[in-house]
Amino acid sequence: MSLDNRPQYSGGCQCGAVRFHVEGALGDASVCHCRMCQKASGNFYLPLVSVREAKLTWTRGRPKKFQSSNAAWRGFCGDCGTPLSYEAPDGVALAIAAFDHPEEIAPTIQWGTEAKLPYVDGIHALPGEDTMQDIGSAPFLATLVSFQHPDHDTDRWPPEDRQ
Ligand SMILES: [Zn+2]
Ligand SMILES: [Zn+2]
Repeated sequence: MSLDNRPQYSGGCQCGAVRFHVEGALGDASVCHCRMCQKASGNFYLPLVSVREAKLTWTRGRPKKFQSSNAAWRGFCGDCGTPLSYEAPDGVALAIAAFDHPEEIAPTIQWGTEAKLPYVDGIHALPGEDTMQDIGSAPFLATLVSFQHPDHDTDRWPPEDRQ
C-alpha cells in the first residue's frame, strides 16, 4: 500500500531490463484464448489484467512494441522477449505472470474462447511432478543458478558480480 492506501504492484521481464510499477486498483483479470494472444505470448492463452484505472509507470527500461493489428500493440522486452503488455485504444493491460506476485491476481473471465485449444481444459488432470522430482533425468537442477530478475524491485541490475 502507498501512503494514501492505494495498492501497489511491481513486476517486469525475466532479464530485468524492463520493470514496471502500478499504483491503484487493478481492473478485470482474464485469460484470452484468441489466436492473436496465443501468438503474442507463444502460449496456449494469455493472462492479462487491466491497469487502465491505475497509474502505470515503467521504472526501468521500456517495452519494445509490435503492432499486432490496427487497434492494438503488444509490448515485450526487447532483450529477453518476455511478453509484458497489451495496449489498445481502451487502455493498457499487463501480463499477469510478469507481476512479482501473480498469485494475487486471479483471472475472473475467459475471452476468445472460439480459439481455445482442445486440450487446455484437461491440463489440470494431467499427471504432475514438482521440479525437483525430475532431478534423476536433469541432475543440473541440483546446482541451478537463476539469472532471472528476482520477484522484487532492485536498486541495480544485473548484480555487479555478474556483469
Ligand atoms: Zn528482459
Ligand atoms: Zn486475445
